Amino acid sequence: MATLIDGKAISTQIKDELKEKVAQLKAEGTKVTLAVIQVGNDPASSVYVGNKKKACEYIGINSLAYELPEETTEEELLKLIGELNERADVNGILVQLPLPSHIDEDKVIRKIDPSKDVDGFHPQSVGALCIGQKGYVSCTPAGIIQLLKRSGIEIAGKECVVIGRSNIVGKPMALLLLRENGTVTVAHSRTKDLKEVTKRADILIVAVGKPKMITKDYVKEGAVVIDVGIHRGADNKLCGDVDFQDVEGVCSAITPVPGGVGPMTIAMLMSNCVESVL
Ligand code: NAD
Repeated sequence: MATLIDGKAISTQIKDELKEKVAQLKAEGTKVTLAVIQVGNDPASSVYVGNKKKACEYIGINSLAYELPEETTEEELLKLIGELNERADVNGILVQLPLPSHIDEDKVIRKIDPSKDVDGFHPQSVGALCIGQKGYVSCTPAGIIQLLKRSGIEIAGKECVVIGRSNIVGKPMALLLLRENGTVTVAHSRTKDLKEVTKRADILIVAVGKPKMITKDYVKEGAVVIDVGIHRGADNKLCGDVDFQDVEGVCSAITPVPGGVGPMTIAMLMSNCVESVL
């Protein structure tokens, strides 16, 4: 039977550590403030923004909410980010994605001062990660490294396969595993014989965006499986990119959906916010 990697418990542990740190900083006269900008009212984005606010409250981080109407222009959004960049009392800036189609996401990301880029999406943050320099790391992959480390799973020297090459999950994930001395392979939609590649993995990270695509046929006996996917099925239940029931019999450890990677993303965002004042 596979060990369940409990992202809920590990994320709570991290948030409790951060809460202590924030209280200590407050006692020394330093406040942590995160500005969260949402444009429009996409329901999924509203849930994510709400969860981020709740996490800030729990830890003791001030959150400034900017809920802008759908018709906000790119110019108006860039102007607001410019103002927040200048404000000494704002440590982190987060723009909830996706943005309405009339706004260029790349332009918006590039406008955020890299010293306040707590999502880790700015090209300067990504470049720093690539060459092993200090900078904010994208929250979901950073959370996965914490899940592995805090579960006592060694990365150094292991065959690590990441399925997916997106800018927010797959690519930074591969770079982080490399930083931890894993031997890393990135598989994607053009990979030939995916099963042959994934069956080499001691640690398999699945960020493919396809519900329950990864069955036991893709997994080596005893591998660690991390499921990044989140989907709501026709039965209204959440599931991941991995067919949990099928895979749990062959792997040594696995993350559930929900309660695996998801809660870690917000915990690492909070961690980046605290880092912004250190
Ligand atoms: P994406 O759609 O940007 O990228 C998917 C990647 O999978 C692509 O790089 C593509 O090459 C690859 N791919 C697609 N079909 C494939 C196939 N048949 N074989 C091999 N590779 C294939 O998705 P993303 O933003 O990286 O997100 C991936 C999943 O993770 C989604 O389900 C998303 O909802 C979820 N997600 C979860 C969190 C979290 O906090 N838990 C955060 C971000 C994303």
